Amino acid sequence: MKKLYAVIGLGRFGGSICKELSKEGKEVLAIDMDEDKVNEYKEIATHAVIADSTDELALKELGFRNIDHVIVAIGDNIHASILTTLILGEFGVRKITVKAQNNYHEKILEKIGADEVVHPERDMGRRIAHSIISSNVLDY
Ligand code: ATP
Repeated sequence: MKKLYAVIGLGRFGGSICKELSKEGKEVLAIDMDEDKVNEYKEIATHAVIADSTDELALKELGFRNIDHVIVAIGDNIHASILTTLILGEFGVRKITVKAQNNYHEKILEKIGADEVVHPERDMGRRIAHSIISSNVLDY
């Protein structure tokens, strides 16, 4: 059976994940509480729905229990990110990837059962620093 993905939060990070998964032919449910963001993804994702991910009932009705991999890409609202992760964990979602805003957020997410915590700005900064170092090594 085809793997099902969901992206919660369609900012720059979540939006780019959603676009890339869709481009690769994956089945993606895109959620945001902002109507304009959802409209932007109507033609991109398999389904794009306006919903507040801290609303357990709304997630249940959207079939989140059957999603294989959820990416929680809520940035600024740490409270919403944590609550969403808790709800998804209780649903028994197989894989939960969450964007962390800072180190404390990251620690909490790990403790409450996020399978993968990403910190895009920090991780990308590290990657670029290493690529600068390795290109410098080749220069000398
Ligand atoms: P980026 O840097 O990826 O653009 P960001 O770190 O600035 O994003 P936010 O803009 O805070 O992150 O959140 C990303 C998206 O998540 C926004 O489009 C926002 O509407 C959405 N969002 C925030 N809280 C919720 C929620 N409870 N349910 C659904 N969507 C939410």
